[in-house]
Amino acid sequence: MLPFNKPYFTGNETKYIESAVSSGKISGNGDYTKKCQSFFEQNFGIKKCLLTTSCTDALEMAAILIDIKPGDEVIMPSYTFVSTANAFVLRGATIVFADSRKDHPNIDENAIEGLITSKTKAIVPVHYAGVACEMDTIMDIAKRHNLYVIEDAAQAIDSYYTGKDNVKRALGSIGHLAAFSFHETKNIISGEGGLLAINDEKFINRAEIIWEKGTNRSSFFRGEVDKYGWVDIGSSFLPSEIIAAFLWAQLENLEQIQMVRKNHWESYFDKLATWARENRIELPQLPDYASNNAHMFYLICDSLEQRTKLLDYLKQHDILAVFHYISLHESPFYDKLHKGGVLPETDRFTDTLVRLPLFYELNPNVVIDVLLKAAF
Ligand SMILES: *Cc1c(COP(=O)(O)O)cnc(C)c1O
Repeated sequence: MLPFNKPYFTGNETKYIESAVSSGKISGNGDYTKKCQSFFEQNFGIKKCLLTTSCTDALEMAAILIDIKPGDEVIMPSYTFVSTANAFVLRGATIVFADSRKDHPNIDENAIEGLITSKTKAIVPVHYAGVACEMDTIMDIAKRHNLYVIEDAAQAIDSYYTGKDNVKRALGSIGHLAAFSFHETKNIISGEGGLLAINDEKFINRAEIIWEKGTNRSSFFRGEVDKYGWVDIGSSFLPSEIIAAFLWAQLENLEQIQMVRKNHWESYFDKLATWARENRIELPQLPDYASNNAHMFYLICDSLEQRTKLLDYLKQHDILAVFHYISLHESPFYDKLHKGGVLPETDRFTDTLVRLPLFYELNPNVVIDVLLKAAF
């Protein structure tokens, strides 16, 4: 069976882990952690980065940093992973789900303003498939209503948004805060792992404290205070050096990994274009302002029935393709709490989206040849 995903190892992961182990320092915030954080700060124009044990953790830190309290409302798409919502629900927030765009599962930026109330505290755009949300509009709404923007950039490493000012900015460098994931299903991996990106400087000091279990340990080690202690709430959000060492081996090869993934993505896009049109299937659409980081290659079928047929057909030919999110507003946990209206585009993507295998060692022609032989 051709898998949907296969983690790619650059070859240096175990070498760097060995060096972390032999250095005698394997808890967090050591040399590899600092290297990974600087990599993001320098390459993606982020003010301050903190490695975390997952993107989920980075989102939970963001919810603490913006002081989410019971009753606060947070606006986000319904077509997303549970952690986007859960991080805020854990602090008592009410989630207000917005619909997706017609041409993309990303949040419809024009659906946001009508959902704002006096309780709204933040907007959480999710850059689905690593494709940018319309950030100029979202940042403008946030500014006018005094809201925070937290980007769920879990899938969005090395992807960009070009604004109306013609400046190209990395995803994760635009909102007040952002969260990345290095889960084994993402482009750059460390098994489990994540990163909090801080673009509004006022959050930097407190973020370090929350990261270090509510203590000012980081300033102590920099010699800024002569003893450290409990100064705020916090948790154990920082990963060990073993994870950071693994991640460093991946980040060093970012360019190569991205090049290979983009080639696979382009092969799918070019070779499936005619077949897709003939079968009423949509290929991914990239708005002009968004770059492609080849995180995912998906198809949009014309119905749930067509998608079921397509998935079954691929399975019969030993290829594992998969659908994606079940809208959160219809989840067993949240459907009774959801107080927004109907979300027709979200529901459509829940029923019709298919993800094709996409990983470094893939030969996309294997999947393409099988698809081209069939009509749906
Ligand atoms: C993968 C993913 C997450 C969670 O990432 P973890 O590192 O597994 O916690 C959150 N949001 C989105 C959109 C994701 O794709």
